[in-house]
Amino acid sequence: MEKYLNPSSLKQFVQLIDQSERIILTCHVHPDGDAIGSTLGLWHLLKSLGKQPAVVVPDVPPRSLRFLPDFNEIAVYTRHDPYCTRLVEESDLIICCDFNKPSRQDHLAPLIQGAKAPKILIDHHEGPDMDCILEFSYPKMSSTCELVFRIIAGSGFYCDLNRSGATCLLTGLITDTQNFTVNCNNPDVYEILTKLMEKGAEKGKIIEECVKACSYSSLRLKSYAICEKLEIFPEHRACLITLGKDELDKFQYEKGDTEGLVNEPLNIRGMIYSIFMREDPDCIKVSARSKNNFPVSKICENLFNGGGHLQASGGEFKGSLAECRSVLIEHLGDYDQYLPKRMPKLEIKTE
Ligand code: 5GP
Ligand code: MN
Repeated sequence: MEKYLNPSSLKQFVQLIDQSERIILTCHVHPDGDAIGSTLGLWHLLKSLGKQPAVVVPDVPPRSLRFLPDFNEIAVYTRHDPYCTRLVEESDLIICCDFNKPSRQDHLAPLIQGAKAPKILIDHHEGPDMDCILEFSYPKMSSTCELVFRIIAGSGFYCDLNRSGATCLLTGLITDTQNFTVNCNNPDVYEILTKLMEKGAEKGKIIEECVKACSYSSLRLKSYAICEKLEIFPEHRACLITLGKDELDKFQYEKGDTEGLVNEPLNIRGMIYSIFMREDPDCIKVSARSKNNFPVSKICENLFNGGGHLQASGGEFKGSLAECRSVLIEHLGDYDQYLPKRMPKLEIKTE
């Protein structure tokens, strides 16, 4: 396996772990498989090292991650503010996983930023902007979980990683690579997969639980969205799904129910990017995915106050769903310059 990490950073990591007892692991708002996998994976490692770790997350993780070992240990700030506050204030080290700037933690940001404990950043997003004493920022990595694995292996903690920790790390690897279909051309990813499976992580079970399993109403909501709400903009090789509150209510929407929906229209041959807009209580949540290195992150940055990865990004819009949709449609043409020079044929037949 290629050695990417700086030996002196790894040495500093080991020193910081050695000299700390109460260690907080934290991640971004709307935590996904990589955010929870990396924090809870490190939690398991630190437990086996005899530390007192705690995972503190900004808001409730999706139902699909409840199968993770010791998921119930996760402290959710929106649910248990005083408890989370005490944990953070009494901590002597904070490890920030899977986000690059304080605002990605939303209302949890002031508590984490105001804490006296030193911070370590472990992340794979471009342009880190955090005040940390140690930074592992590798945007080329498939996932933060891949990076955490490399840090564990490079720090000599590999033998302390147990089956539970390996399960968490493999979950992030699977979700951020969409089951090993994107960002996984580095053969090292498969070496890491093998090592995590040797530790006892069950790839099939993880995919079953956190990628495939859904509720009946979620399946119906996603089917409705594809059947009734998919708009195609052939000249831009783009497509859009919007779901308003009334539609979400009709299918008893619960957090996580639209997970994966944005990927579906990208399966149409010749489609380059897909956008999904959902009317949440406080904003319009935007999700975007693309192929052929189309920089969908630029759309999220420029139009929806967001960002993320080149081909998987998101953002938020303050205003109505109709306005959000109009903003996108108005600007689609601005991004034609990033479409591939030789365009694949778009295979659609519409009535
Ligand atoms: P998702 O579409 O699954 O919510 O997010 C995909 C990726 O986009 C995330 O892993 C994260 O990197 C990024 N992302 C999602 N929402 C936001 C946002 O509101 N702001 C920023 N900066 N990035 C986001
Ligand atoms: Mn990630």
